[in-house]
Amino acid sequence: MARMAAAPPSDRVDVAVIGAGAAGLMAAIHAGRAGAGRVVLLESAKRPGAKILVAGGGRCNVTHHEVTERDFAGSTPAAIRKVLRRFDVPATLEFFRGIGVELKREETGKLFPTTDDAATVLEALLRAAREAGAGLRAGCRVEEVRRDGGAFRVTGAWGVLEAGRVVISTGGRSLPKSGSDGHGFEIARSLGHSITRLVTPALVPLTLPGGHFVTQLSGLSAEATLTLRSGSGKEIVSVTGSTLCTHFGLSGPAVLDISRHYLHALAADPGVAITVSWLPGETAKSVDAGLLALGAASAGRHLASRLPERLARALCDAAGVDPSAPGRAMTRERRRALAIAVTATPLPVTGDRGYTHAEATAGGVPLAEIRLDTMESRVCPGLHLCGEICDVDGRIGGFNFQWAWSSGYVAGISVAPVPASGAR
Ligand SMILES: Cc1cc2nc3c(=O)[nH]c(=O)nc-3n(C[C@H](O)[C@H](O)[C@H](O)COP(=O)(O)OP(=O)(O)OC[C@H]3O[C@@H](n4cnc5c(N)ncnc54)[C@H](O)[C@@H]3O)c2cc1C
Repeated sequence: MARMAAAPPSDRVDVAVIGAGAAGLMAAIHAGRAGAGRVVLLESAKRPGAKILVAGGGRCNVTHHEVTERDFAGSTPAAIRKVLRRFDVPATLEFFRGIGVELKREETGKLFPTTDDAATVLEALLRAAREAGAGLRAGCRVEEVRRDGGAFRVTGAWGVLEAGRVVISTGGRSLPKSGSDGHGFEIARSLGHSITRLVTPALVPLTLPGGHFVTQLSGLSAEATLTLRSGSGKEIVSVTGSTLCTHFGLSGPAVLDISRHYLHALAADPGVAITVSWLPGETAKSVDAGLLALGAASAGRHLASRLPERLARALCDAAGVDPSAPGRAMTRERRRALAIAVTATPLPVTGDRGYTHAEATAGGVPLAEIRLDTMESRVCPGLHLCGEICDVDGRIGGFNFQWAWSSGYVAGISVAPVPASGAR
């Protein structure tokens, strides 16, 4: 028997989810499961989920065993907490288990798929979206969204789609080649939203002047404390963690974590400065006392017992101290200069490596413009926002994905005619 030709896809859907990254996939899965009707994901890239695949060095750090609002910056902690609580870490584990992804906790508290392969996570999310009835249209960049009576007109070079509700999950500006080029901000703005005055890269490496001794230590990594201070010397934030010296400056978790604080503080106060202590927990006074007691032993040897040798030598050079000379030969002035180099090396940061090298974006749509129980816009009814487009950025460790899962879940269950509150 001849089969009837399939009807051409209708141009009208119940929900258009713009952006099939972590937040958009989560929203589409839960919209479908909650009975939101015809759900379509519009994704500009030919292959969705680029960031999920590169995350965590290709292993995808899905979340962290403990996530609180204190792990984030941007909007107020109370607002961030409200969303995180709706879909917390246990709920995330249960959700991933339900779609066939077992997570394991590592010593650092980070959770990864037991396969150590990010593709496991992406494939499971895509499968779950399909099973929930959400259609994926890849290679469809949305150029414009307009409110048209009670619905939305979503347009791009691919055509026009009418949608009863729209979810914007286009991410921020980081890793623009993945498709997250910031156009979502323009769409949100055109629908009446504001974008924070400041939008900067977050989790981004910082650059130092060429020739700075740190750039000569390229490849060296050490546990260090970075402290950001205002122009008047007041401590703003301090981060301890692995710090990587590179040919351009500094990278590694501690540097990435402090970067957004630096860039945001700098915009308000050109005098802000970062110093690094290569011996966390020590003070200039305690290091000075250790150097004073050296006697015939050299400062280079002494420091190399606790620091990588190349770094110990570089710190001696920076302080004008001969690393192999007996400690007792050091003048008081040189000894103090070395103690300060060890505990408070000034970092004359010249800039950051930009969105191409940033793992996240700091800034976006303020949560104050969003109803946090539904992630629905307060300024444009029927529009929902989730993920990195919001003014929320997390520290290194799986926090940014957790925000995407939590906010995507809340948006997803809320686009159904009767929100299935509490449904997972
Ligand atoms: C290298 C790297 C490693 C990372 N590692 C981790 C990690 O291990 N753990 C962690 O928690 N976080 C990590 N992050 C951060 C995390 O990936 C993001 O915070 C998260 O992916 C944000 O999810 P999202 O869905 O909001 O946005 P995105 O993942 O950016 O997804 C947005 C999607 O929208 C699409 N899009 C954008 N504009 C349009 C448009 N106009 N029309 C249609 N589609 C559009 C994009 O193509 C993209 O697919 C990493 C980021 C990077 C860059």
